[in-house]
Amino acid sequence: DCALAELLAPLLVSAKAIAQERNLQLITKVPRNLPLVRANTKALREVLNNIIDNALKYTPTGGKIFIQVGQEQDNLQGIAISDTGPGIPPEDLAHIGERHYRGVQAQTDIPGTGLGLAIAKQLIEEMQGKIEVFSPAINSIIASPKAPGTTFIIWLPEVEG
Ligand code: ATP
Ligand code: MG
Repeated sequence: DCALAELLAPLLVSAKAIAQERNLQLITKVPRNLPLVRANTKALREVLNNIIDNALKYTPTGGKIFIQVGQEQDNLQGIAISDTGPGIPPEDLAHIGERHYRGVQAQTDIPGTGLGLAIAKQLIEEMQGKIEVFSPAINSIIASPKAPGTTFIIWLPEVEG
């Protein structure tokens, strides 16, 4: 069992440092008394690192990243990571999570192997959770037509009782 606020705290500290370096605004909303989730802590840490790493590297300077915990749906707890980056076009969205798939970002000089999300998807499914992707972003951060952004939501089963 895993306490999300505790797991996230150190990840958010290092994300804040990288955000600052890249001149990105990182906004976080992580309530203290969340229900525990059923998760493999080490694997969940890797998944969060992958998705936060994407937000940090694909969002151009001056953008915003919003990490929010506390949504509940069908006994699942959601961790939402939104950004004001370029978004993922529909033709790429269909392939997200395939091994070695890189979208339009592959044509830029932003490095990557196209494995981060494939690994994330597999690890979360092993925990009986799921990952949703929305582009344009669906969270209440200010995205514009020029910066439609992306929202990833990681859903994990709550511990009952
Ligand atoms: P790796 O994570 O293995 O270093 P990667 O970032 O290219 O490489 P994934 O994390 O699996 O691979 O992401 C797959 C593709 O999805 C990316 O190449 C990019 O096109 C797109 N993508 C993922 N996250 C975002 C995001 N936050 N904004 C825009 N595009 C994204
Ligand atoms: Mg990645």
